[in-house]
Amino acid sequence: MAGIYIHIPFCKQACHYCDFHFSTSLKKKEDMVFALQNELLLRKEELKNQVVETIYFGGGTPSLLTNDEIQEIINSVYSNYPVVESPEITLEANPDDLTNKCINELIDSPINRLSIGIQSFFEDDLKLMNRAHNANEAKSCLEEVTKHFDNISIDLIYGIPNATNAHWLKNIETALSYGVPHISCYALTVEPKTALHSFIKKGIIEEVDDEAAQEQFHILLDILESNNFVHYELSNFGKTGYFSKNNTAYWQGKPYLGIGPSSHSFNGKQRGWNVRNNTKYIKALQDNQLPIEWEVLTKTDRYNEYIMTGLRTIWGVSLLKIEAEFGISYKKYLLQQADKFINQHLLYIDNNQLLATKKGKFLSDGIASDLFKLNL
Ligand code: SF4
Repeated sequence: MAGIYIHIPFCKQACHYCDFHFSTSLKKKEDMVFALQNELLLRKEELKNQVVETIYFGGGTPSLLTNDEIQEIINSVYSNYPVVESPEITLEANPDDLTNKCINELIDSPINRLSIGIQSFFEDDLKLMNRAHNANEAKSCLEEVTKHFDNISIDLIYGIPNATNAHWLKNIETALSYGVPHISCYALTVEPKTALHSFIKKGIIEEVDDEAAQEQFHILLDILESNNFVHYELSNFGKTGYFSKNNTAYWQGKPYLGIGPSSHSFNGKQRGWNVRNNTKYIKALQDNQLPIEWEVLTKTDRYNEYIMTGLRTIWGVSLLKIEAEFGISYKKYLLQQADKFINQHLLYIDNNQLLATKKGKFLSDGIASDLFKLNL
């Protein structure tokens, strides 16, 4: 089983915190759709003997594509790859694009899961982040979309400068009031070269407070768990039956094809990186060339990746798998490094799985890096 991720590198405007790859000019949208379809065609041999289980339109802002463009890309997947009978097909969408007309078109399309970039229901937060939608659009799109789709995820951001815990609580409660079965929550991070980074440096926006973010993460955990959400990955909460199949496959190390500029691919042994430039990407595909570079993962790379993703999930890191795939010396090393975190009640072992405790979850990325091995 495999997944196909399709990156749509266009956005209406640049959110202040974002360091993803996108362009705010839509001039090359048609050429891009053609290039994406050609990449799907040229790479069909890569998933030989695999059946596609999930198709994920990410970005950027995939909801900037027309319904016909989305359909054409899906047709290309079907004509080049074997696909399971009922694949999960996700579209990331922004509230300002989810007009009634767009929702009606989506109802008749093969898209069966929506991941909506709400981020906040407060006007001030949305302005600070330079989102293209406003608070009313966030609410009205959810009112409409929940009438027609049940597999909906929404994104929220916590740790916003000056946002109090009460403010964050209100955001979570508003999200819950729409009955969505999946919520992804991310701490606001200040990436280099973003507008947010420069505003903070100039003192226009206050620094992000890590302690406040950690507190808000724990508020989130308590409320969502008491509302029957399973915290199945550091940033992801889903009701039973609504975990993202696409992302779960990725965290469990299944192969996936990343289509589009800046997309990553993984075939079990190598990781591929598509060029992060729309013009170069389109030009290469017009010449029937694949703008991808492959890197062979060493045993240590694969171990480090497994530790990083495993600790973020409820499935944890399997000590049996570590021994079977990497050898006894890796397992010994892992247990030795994990010891101090177990003593600090940040990690624990249950049934041969190494897992993060409730307290350790928020810190799992930092802990994982202490469990890494060096490539020597
Ligand atoms: S809409 Fe998404 S991808 Fe586009 S700038 Fe905003 S956060 Fe980044």
